[in-house]
Amino acid sequence: ASPSEEKDLVIIGGGVAGYVAAIKAGQEGLKVACIEKRGTLGGTCLNVGCIPSKSLLNNSHLYHQILHDTKNRGIDVGDVKLNLEQMMKAKETSVSGLTKGIEFLFKKNGVEYIRGTGTFADENTVAINLVDGGETSVRGKNIIIATGSEATPFPGLTIDEKKVITSTGAIALKQVPKKMVVIGGGIIGLEMGSVWSRLGAEVTVVEFLGQIGGPGMDADISKSIQKTLGKQGMKFKLNTKVMQGDDSGDTVKLDLEAAKGGKPETVEADVVLVAIGRRPYTQGLGLENIGLETDNRGRLVIDQEYRTKIPHIRVIGDCTFGPMLAHKAEEEAVAAIEYITKNYGHVNYGAIPSVMYTHPEVAWVGQNEVELKEAGVKYKVGTFPFSANSRAKTNLDSEGMVKFLADAETDRILGVHIVGPNAGEMIAEGTLALEYGASTEDVGRTSHAHPTLAEAFKEAAMATYSKAIHA
Ligand code: FAD
Ligand code: NAD
Repeated sequence: ASPSEEKDLVIIGGGVAGYVAAIKAGQEGLKVACIEKRGTLGGTCLNVGCIPSKSLLNNSHLYHQILHDTKNRGIDVGDVKLNLEQMMKAKETSVSGLTKGIEFLFKKNGVEYIRGTGTFADENTVAINLVDGGETSVRGKNIIIATGSEATPFPGLTIDEKKVITSTGAIALKQVPKKMVVIGGGIIGLEMGSVWSRLGAEVTVVEFLGQIGGPGMDADISKSIQKTLGKQGMKFKLNTKVMQGDDSGDTVKLDLEAAKGGKPETVEADVVLVAIGRRPYTQGLGLENIGLETDNRGRLVIDQEYRTKIPHIRVIGDCTFGPMLAHKAEEEAVAAIEYITKNYGHVNYGAIPSVMYTHPEVAWVGQNEVELKEAGVKYKVGTFPFSANSRAKTNLDSEGMVKFLADAETDRILGVHIVGPNAGEMIAEGTLALEYGASTEDVGRTSHAHPTLAEAFKEAAMATYSKAIHA
């Protein structure tokens, strides 16, 4: 098919939102083209986000464990050395394997992949500046905008991805910095801070709020993970604002002040990681050519079926409302295609899990205590510590807990919060329970294999409606 032929659907952006929508559309028999300017598919998540960060988190954890946690297990190791270049190569191999995998899936599902930058010429036409030179255009009966997000810059600091970095620089440093200061104790700050702390950097996290973890993390869980990360060597300055920075010298200087006013102080670092959130990315899309506007936070405004005020133009993923998560983008992609082909779609925004891939991991789904209190909901709490779980104990990896929040009257699960080994896998069980409207008694009366970490999940449920056995 020639690119100028009219498609049933044109997608701008080949990240998780865009590529999943393209594959699903192909499966549904739509004639579909996906435009991506990066040169590879997979967007932020596969190229510079979820995947490379998890590769570095996994391998830096192994390195740290071999250095500090083998003797007591009966394993004497010799000279342990970091080969950062090889660690980065391992990351690149994972990334390129996965991004090429999507190209294969495009071919398999008949999706036309156009490498270039898409700009609206009119409501049905997208002009494309091709990566390999030249221009073309494509017309679509339907168009999906899936252009994602970018790191929010810190005013006054120039991002060079070497000395002042975002997560993109943090997955590609050529050497371990001596001192790293992280602005923002959210998920990116803690994940990437963990990587470089394990590899030997002295890491200080400066967070404006009184707790780490970013939006949504339960206060008890946040305290617990902060304690553990502190033991691993990370330092925290909470309730502290970065006022301004100076990156003109070899090091970067930051002026800090207590959030509620107080004595100012200056810190210095070889590398500063700016991790204060991400913002929707719609630059160069030519929204002005079709009269579409963004809200005060840069998000494209949509209705419940992902439609803009021009009904055949839809928006999904990071560039619109909701949590900036890959699996949220993926759910929206499938639902948007179903709205186009079948007139119905479904995403349960109340049951989207969050995972922070530190060690131990933190994972949650549903509401936390603050949110329930604010909503005036009466709830009960049940917890179980991994220190009382047989598998965690045999693995010598027993920090953390599982915490259930359930409706005080009906016992229906309202939230599950976990800090502990494999929390990111375990939260799938909590998400399923929430999605099915389960009570804690439903979970507590379900057999869980022994000895597994998942027994901590069952026992925390038991502790909510009755009593745990092993605590
Ligand atoms: P993106 O992935 O940003 O994709 C948008 C794509 O559109 C980009 O490739 C861009 O080049 C392209 N584009 C933009 N404008 C145009 C145009 N005009 N023409 C053509 N192409 C265009 N989420 C998780 O769920 N789990 C994680 O573990 C996780 N880890 C992360 C780690 C880091 C360091 C970061 C930064 C993010 C992480 N995220 C994670 C968030 C996740 O990456 C995003 O939620 C996800 O990528 C959103 O997908 P998207 O398709 O909406 O946008
Ligand atoms: P975030 O919103 O999670 O955290 C930003 C933190 O910075 C907040 O705690 C905020 O209080 C703090 N902050 C803001 N301004 C500050 C200032 N001037 N001084 C000190 N602290 C300040 O954002 P992020 O960590 O940058 O992550 C961005 C997005 O990427 C998030 O939506 C996240 O969901 C997504 N992400 C997800 C994963 C994952 O799912 N594992 C991993 C990485 C990124």
